[in-house]
Amino acid sequence: MLLRNCRLVVTWSEDGSPRILENVDIRIRDNKIEEIGRDLNKETGEEEIDCSRRIVLPGIVNAHTHSPMVMLRGYCDDLELHEWLSRVWEVERHLDERLIELGSELAIIEMLSTGTTAFIDMYFYPHITAQVAKKYGIRAFLSPPFIEVLISSDKCLKELEDFIRTYSGDRLVKPIVNVHSIYTCSIECVKRAHEIAIENRLIMHIHVSETRKEVYECKKKYGKFPVELLYDIGVLSENTHLVHLGWVTSREIELIRETGASVTHCPVSNMKLATAGFFPFYEMMMQGIRVTIGTDGAASNNCLDMFREMKTAVLLQRNNYWDTRIKASHVLKAATLNGYRVLRIDGGDIGPGKIADLVMLDLDSIYLQPIREDNLISNIVYSATGRDVSMVIIDGRVVYDRERDLERWRERAREIREELNRFIEKFVQAHR
Ligand SMILES: [Zn+2]
Repeated sequence: MLLRNCRLVVTWSEDGSPRILENVDIRIRDNKIEEIGRDLNKETGEEEIDCSRRIVLPGIVNAHTHSPMVMLRGYCDDLELHEWLSRVWEVERHLDERLIELGSELAIIEMLSTGTTAFIDMYFYPHITAQVAKKYGIRAFLSPPFIEVLISSDKCLKELEDFIRTYSGDRLVKPIVNVHSIYTCSIECVKRAHEIAIENRLIMHIHVSETRKEVYECKKKYGKFPVELLYDIGVLSENTHLVHLGWVTSREIELIRETGASVTHCPVSNMKLATAGFFPFYEMMMQGIRVTIGTDGAASNNCLDMFREMKTAVLLQRNNYWDTRIKASHVLKAATLNGYRVLRIDGGDIGPGKIADLVMLDLDSIYLQPIREDNLISNIVYSATGRDVSMVIIDGRVVYDRERDLERWRERAREIREELNRFIEKFVQAHR
């Protein structure tokens, strides 16, 4: 495939700063970028896509979500986390495979059409989400979650082993080890989960230090802060992926750095659930910790658009630090290059040999003007939304082309709405 005359292309230089290419051709062979240059010769039989009116970005990773929860978008919006969780768990006990399929499909068409190329997911029935992800061609990292307050860890363990067996060799769907949190799982459970992650070389994905309540109760029960506890029980490692971290001490940041664990910032969800705190983006970045960005589920966000998330991340950080030390390029790098590093895929950047996961924005979008090479990164982070995405390529295949797919997907979303609303309305009536 030849992407002809790409007007503006965002790549990353060695020192981590953005490097913009203009008017270049990009050749993709199989699932990798083969070469970038001017006036490349078209090979016989090669598909050519005119990119003269497109901005090309590396693939974007939503590093923390609960995709099927899009079905609970707008379900209970004005509650704080622990009260919100109990309301959500009440509905979740009534979910079945059909509802998960519909929620996954709605989330995946939202993510793809707004430029997400890969997502890290934590939810029940992951084999259903995995099948939908394969059908649409998005990268999905998921597994059944350990959440002992709802499901016994033996049951989860068995499901996890099956899931790992099924998806170990898959191109797009990759198993991880999901642990909900230290307040919903025992120490033994978290330790076992981490052992499985190490044995199978997988990510262990866990919510940590999201609220003051969690930190307070951890300190009361174990005499330690949450990240400190994870360190002391031996589950902080390069495989560990920590989400939220709104309430962490400098000592805990040091432990994350020392062990090579990675982290995700979910600014919208944290603000909306009023968990407050302060994700120390700058300190972590300066220590070389892989900082990534996630939307969290659409029940607490309420959208899965990573462009909106990137902008909010910068704004929240500026509000926290009272200065502008966090730049647009920092969050764009967190959402692209760092995301792929956590996934251990050589992507999130555009260059020969990199995986061919690309997101294209409409150069002529009203909302990005006047766009130039010198304001490109700013306009991508502060002005673009997912609705400016015109094409998405994953693993060398065009998986979303706005002209080809948007109308059809809108129709599909309408059908899904009818079915989901029937369930929600029935549930609300029965439990009022
Ligand atoms: Zn979450």
